[in-house]
Amino acid sequence: MIVGTVKEIKNHEYRVGLTPESVYELTAHGHTVLVEAGAGLGIGASDADYAAAGAQIIATPAEIFARADMVVKVKEPQAVERAMLREGQVLFTYLHLAPDPAQTADLIQSRAVCIAYETVTDAQGGLPLLKPMSQVAGRMAIQAGATALEKAHGGRGVLLGGVPGVAPARVVVLGGGVVGFNAAEMAVGLCADVTVLDRSPSVLERLSTHFGARAKTLYSSRANLAAAVAGADLVIGAVLIPGAAAPNLVTRAMLSTMQPGAVLVDVAIDQGGCFETSHATTHADPTYIVDGIVHYAVANMPGAVARTSTYALNNATLPHTLAMANLGWREALRRDLHLRQGLNVWDGHITHAAVAEALGYAA
Ligand code: NAD
Repeated sequence: MIVGTVKEIKNHEYRVGLTPESVYELTAHGHTVLVEAGAGLGIGASDADYAAAGAQIIATPAEIFARADMVVKVKEPQAVERAMLREGQVLFTYLHLAPDPAQTADLIQSRAVCIAYETVTDAQGGLPLLKPMSQVAGRMAIQAGATALEKAHGGRGVLLGGVPGVAPARVVVLGGGVVGFNAAEMAVGLCADVTVLDRSPSVLERLSTHFGARAKTLYSSRANLAAAVAGADLVIGAVLIPGAAAPNLVTRAMLSTMQPGAVLVDVAIDQGGCFETSHATTHADPTYIVDGIVHYAVANMPGAVARTSTYALNNATLPHTLAMANLGWREALRRDLHLRQGLNVWDGHITHAAVAEALGYAA
């Protein structure tokens, strides 16, 4: 099969669909891989690295879209890319079609085979191609929070781990799923005083078993949440209610109960945020202050660590990319019902029930 990857053109996107190592896996299986010149520069991978892995370096995305049987990307195709998609061509990338009718209409019209990372499932009922980005965001949330706690950034001037003789910072994590677990791991690793709140008994049990005495778990009742937030130096918002906007767990009124210079990191901002006072920010200007409380609410946190994020994403996507290259997409999807869940658009139709429902189409 001819597999192609192009340079991402969405604003401030530095990740790339295939690492040189993934290209090597594909070429070792006898496939031809086309890589746009400069596609890997954002992750520190040169054209020479890709060529050494067996890729053909191609000057334009147009040639890649014209020749490749399958295009592997990161972000949803932009309008100029959608215009280059061909009937029967496989597109394997994040699509997030539900809030994007314009993209959906173009993909339908292209008659391409559009497989979305975010709806591929696993045997545990999880979303394995979203998980790596939640891991990245959770781990990064503690770094971002630690920086925001510094005086120069408006914070309380508190070091997460304290020092011998001085108490560590109190870190409260709202939601103990993938983001929350990874945030707690980092905060515990830095010797902070960590409390994780969740509503799911099984999640609380898993956290308690894993962290033992190194982190406290609390049921996320209103009373527990209000008390934990009031005493916190750093609060990480990591809740998710699948298919719904994030609940507003921390109200503006609650900010007045907090210590001036405390920090809120709202990782759930991509679902609307779980703090009433959150609004999305960018890596260029990540924080703002409301009622003396520092807010960090960057919607695409993994983009800041493009190299780590690309490698994490490729670890999850490569087995599927290889299966489709080796078997053809039809056979790969026939054999793997979890990959089949990724099929969003095929032959001019939406093929994923939830996506169709969200957009008012018949699946
Ligand atoms: P997840 O489903 O693994 O975990 C969410 C957790 O929230 C679950 O354990 C659930 O029980 C818990 N929860 C739900 N309601 C709660 C409540 N009222 N109180 C306490 N806990 C509650 O989801 P995840 O992968 O950890 O993602 C969390 C959020 O982070 C999502 O909104 C996701 O889109 C977002 N995210 C953002 C970025 C970014 O760059 N900003 C990156 C990745 C993920």
